[in-house]
Amino acid sequence: MKHSEDLREILHRIDRRSYPAYKDTAGAYQFGSYVLSIDHVQGDPFAAPSKVSVHIDGAKAGFPSDMTGKKHTRIALADALIRRFGREAEQHSHKAKGSGKSGLLSVSRPGQEVLARSACEIEPDSGDLVVRLEVGFPANGRTINAGELEKILFRFLPECVQQSLFYKTADKKHLEAVKELAEDQYYIRQQLKERGLTAFVADGSVLPRESGVSDRPMKQAVKFCTPESMQVVMELPHAGTVKGMGIPRGVTLIVGGGYHGKSTLLKALERGVYNHIAGDGREYVITDDTAVKIRAEDGRSIRHTDISMFINGLPNGKDTRAFQTEDASGSTSQAANVIEAMEAGTKLFLIDEDTSATNFMIRDELMSRVVHKEMEPITPFIDRVEELFTSYGISTILVAGSCGSYFYKADHVIQMMQYVPSEITEAAKKEAARFADFAKDKPKLQESVPPDFARVFAADRKAALNDRMKIKGMGKDAVSIDRDTIELRYVEQLVDSEQTMALGYMVKYAKQRLFDGKKDLKAVVDMLVKIVEQKGIGAVCEGRYLPCNLAMPRVQEIYACLNRCRGLRIATIHGPGMRINCAFRENMIQE
Ligand code: ADP
Ligand code: MG
Repeated sequence: MKHSEDLREILHRIDRRSYPAYKDTAGAYQFGSYVLSIDHVQGDPFAAPSKVSVHIDGAKAGFPSDMTGKKHTRIALADALIRRFGREAEQHSHKAKGSGKSGLLSVSRPGQEVLARSACEIEPDSGDLVVRLEVGFPANGRTINAGELEKILFRFLPECVQQSLFYKTADKKHLEAVKELAEDQYYIRQQLKERGLTAFVADGSVLPRESGVSDRPMKQAVKFCTPESMQVVMELPHAGTVKGMGIPRGVTLIVGGGYHGKSTLLKALERGVYNHIAGDGREYVITDDTAVKIRAEDGRSIRHTDISMFINGLPNGKDTRAFQTEDASGSTSQAANVIEAMEAGTKLFLIDEDTSATNFMIRDELMSRVVHKEMEPITPFIDRVEELFTSYGISTILVAGSCGSYFYKADHVIQMMQYVPSEITEAAKKEAARFADFAKDKPKLQESVPPDFARVFAADRKAALNDRMKIKGMGKDAVSIDRDTIELRYVEQLVDSEQTMALGYMVKYAKQRLFDGKKDLKAVVDMLVKIVEQKGIGAVCEGRYLPCNLAMPRVQEIYACLNRCRGLRIATIHGPGMRINCAFRENMIQE
């Protein structure tokens, strides 16, 4: 192992030479209690900054094993460390001067959610710690200013590291609180399963956010207050007794007048698949972590998805058992979103009328009398919602401001009134029964055939040989791999642009290594998940260094991303009754 003084020597030697001489600094150097590794050196002062990582031996870092041993506390600890380290680094950013990105110290900036990130990883057994960041190597014009880099690497960085990455100098009380919160959140997640609940919202939670562009809690919000009939009491290991609303499995309806807080409650439930930091207001808003927000998504691409559960007999004769389009309608996109979420293993749908296709959600009585059933390709969601629960074990929480028909299907009805929920199941059911001559000659539903998930993709051969596939993130909205842009704007439970980047790397990896025209989508996703669970999120990046800006997405978002990838070719589809169609399609693809 080279020593920090070796690095100092290199810096002295290359000072005032032209920028590419900085490449000589690449390598690992022992800096007292940690190792500094210069993983990648930028090509010029205006290019993306250099990648640097700090490695600390578990024994030296000294974090107690009850913080590093379990996955949920480990992720919470890493999250806390990266936030602290980031605050330190920010104070030193651009204190070293020069052209372009000279002097930049850039560290991941986590939002309100606690996610596993490549910016800070902790080895479960040893407690070994890695922190990854970007440093703009200083220059004047394109001439190396090594003195400024020396300042960064020998003064600023050591200070940041000493202040934030060792237990002995850490704010122990804060870290203890972080660990305890993670354990309490984990406990609630376990309790959801044990008690047959899909979600829990604690009394006193703050659900609304500061603004449409800020995810911080609203300051003068009405705090959440549980209707007595839905109250659940949790004895948390650390925070003690917490009361709140437990939403049982089954079909739950959220109703209420406009602007009374329905969508805000649903949004909080969508985010409850993740843990939130202390002070967020949603610390104890915990949702079944397989939950998927289902919405209409006009224009998305659909790849051979069996949406026949909802859509049959399209006027253009398209086969809905292997539906394919580059430009879906509101209803077909929402149908595909449901089926794909089932494939991704969800046990809870979250749906807001505001973002749904009306004709996908309901068909009223008068309309079905006027337009005959045979002329209507859509079996609306309302006709499947019970079956989804009884046959597939998938619950639904649905915001319905205008459509009363769902009263007949709901196991629980929650009314939001000036941001305060009350349970009105009985009253709603009574009113519905009085109203019900409508139910008399309801059209007979056709039995639904389970959707077929056996889709087999093949990567483009061109892509498979191309080792330099470029990945470019566009915030949370999209990621492009080479020139294939995957739209993710409406995948609403992607909460961080670093998750989007990670998905980009996963798709690239899957395209190059996994899609072979034989494995179906599930097999591919299972392999991706196994790789990142075992080896960390960086395992799917095959470049020379591991990016410092990746956050772990859920399985559900991995599916969502692959399902929206236009650049994948369908190799074959198998499944009952599909071989003929399939052969036909393959011919068309090969043309
Ligand atoms: P709905 O879906 O019922 O029409 P929203 O959930 O969109 O209503 O909420 C309407 C507005 O009220 C939003 O601007 C939201 O931020 C605000 N709001 C929601 N819940 C609360 C609350 N608990 N306290 C204060 N304001 C809230
Ligand atoms: Mg709304």
